[in-house]
Amino acid sequence: MKKTLKDMDVSGKRVLMRADFNVPLDENGMITDEARIRAALPSITYILENGGKLILMSHLGRPKGEFKAELSLKPVAEKLSSLLGKEVKKLDDCVGEDVEEAVRGMKDGDIILLENLRFHPEEKKNDPVFAKQLASLGDVFIEDAFGTCHRAHASTVGVTKDLPSAAGFLVEKEIEYFEKVTKNPDKPFCLILGGAKVADKIPLIENMLDKIDYLLIGGAMAYTFLKSRHKGIGASRCEDGLADTVDRIFKLASEKKVSIFLPRDHIVAKEIKPDAEVRTVDENIPDNWIGLDIGPKTIQNYEKVLEEAKTIVWNGPVGLFEMAPFSGGTCALAEFISKLDEVTTVIGGGDTASAINQMNLGNKMSHMSTGGGASLEYLEGKELPGIAALDDE
Ligand code: AMP
Repeated sequence: MKKTLKDMDVSGKRVLMRADFNVPLDENGMITDEARIRAALPSITYILENGGKLILMSHLGRPKGEFKAELSLKPVAEKLSSLLGKEVKKLDDCVGEDVEEAVRGMKDGDIILLENLRFHPEEKKNDPVFAKQLASLGDVFIEDAFGTCHRAHASTVGVTKDLPSAAGFLVEKEIEYFEKVTKNPDKPFCLILGGAKVADKIPLIENMLDKIDYLLIGGAMAYTFLKSRHKGIGASRCEDGLADTVDRIFKLASEKKVSIFLPRDHIVAKEIKPDAEVRTVDENIPDNWIGLDIGPKTIQNYEKVLEEAKTIVWNGPVGLFEMAPFSGGTCALAEFISKLDEVTTVIGGGDTASAINQMNLGNKMSHMSTGGGASLEYLEGKELPGIAALDDE
C-alpha cells in the first residue's frame, strides 16, 4: 500500500502537487471540459483547509519542450480560482529564481500554479537537475495526476527522490479500484473491450484472461477477431497480421475457461458520415459495407452476460460513438450497466469515459478512470512508475 494524502502532515508545509490539468481548449483558448480541474478539487481543498501552502504543477497539451503562449496554464488558474473562490496565482515558469521567490512569499492556505511543465524538455526526460529544482519548491510531494502515472517524468518520478511522497485522493481512488479488479475481483468478472486499435490491447487481454470469466468484444476490434473466425467483414476496419495472435487468445481463453463473445449483428454503412445510409446486418457483413456499431441482437446478448456480472471493466467504445447513427451500442450498454445493482463498474479513461460522460452516466459507475493510457497499462499488469515511486505506507 502506498501512503496517501491523509498520512501526511501538511500543516505549514509547502505541498508540491502534480495535478492533471491537461484540459481540452477551443480555438479561443477557452476550456471546453473542466472535469479534470474539478477532479483535483478534493485534494486541493483538503491541503488548503489543513494549512498547507499549495504549489500545483501540470502539463497542458504538447508544447514539445518550448514556450507556447496558447498552451499556458493561465485559463486553468482562472477556472480554478473561480471554483475555489480564492486567488490562484499563476507563475510565468515552473522553475527558476522568480518561482523560488514567489514560493518563499507564500502563507499557509495560499495556492500557486506553476507554468506548463512541458515548456521544458527536461520534464519528459526526467532530467535529475530539473527534477531537483522542482522538488526544492516543496517539503512534501503529492501525486494526483493518474493520467501521467504511466510516465517516468521529472514531475512524477524525479521529484520523489528528494521529497516524502504520497498519493492524492484521485490517485488513491484509482489505485483502490484497479487493485481490486486486477487482484481481487468479485466474480463473475466481465471485461468489455472495444475501440479501434487491436494490437495495442493484446497485452491487456493476455493479462486479464487470468482474472475474467467473460470477454465481450465490440468496436472495430471485433472485425479483426471475426475475420480470423472466417466471417465476412466487408470493408470494416481490420488489423492485418494478427490471425495467429487471435488464435492464441481463443486457445488461451478456452484453457482458462473464459468465454469470448463476438458481435452477432452489426450496424453498417458504406461511408463514415452522419447522414450515411445505415443498415442492420447479421453475422456476415456484405462487401463494401463497413461495420460501425454492434447490432440489436448483440446488445441483447451482451446485456444477458452483463446482468450476471459482479465486476465489469470497460475499455473502448463498442462503435464509432462520436457519430450519432453509430453510438447506439455504446449508449445501450452504458445505460444498462448504469442500472445494475451490486456490481463494481470500472470505466477506462479516454474515449470510454468521454462517451459515458456525454450521457451524464459517470456518477452511476463505481469508478470512472481519469487516465486512458495509465488505465490500459494497469490492466496489462504493468507497474506504473509514477505510483511505484511513491512512499510505501
Ligand atoms: P481506441 O483508441 O483503440 O480505444 O479507439 C477508440 C476509437 O475507436 C473511438 O474513436 C471510436 O469511435 C472508434 N471505433 C469504435 N468502433 C469502431 C468501428 N466499428 N469502426 C471504426 N472506428 C471505431
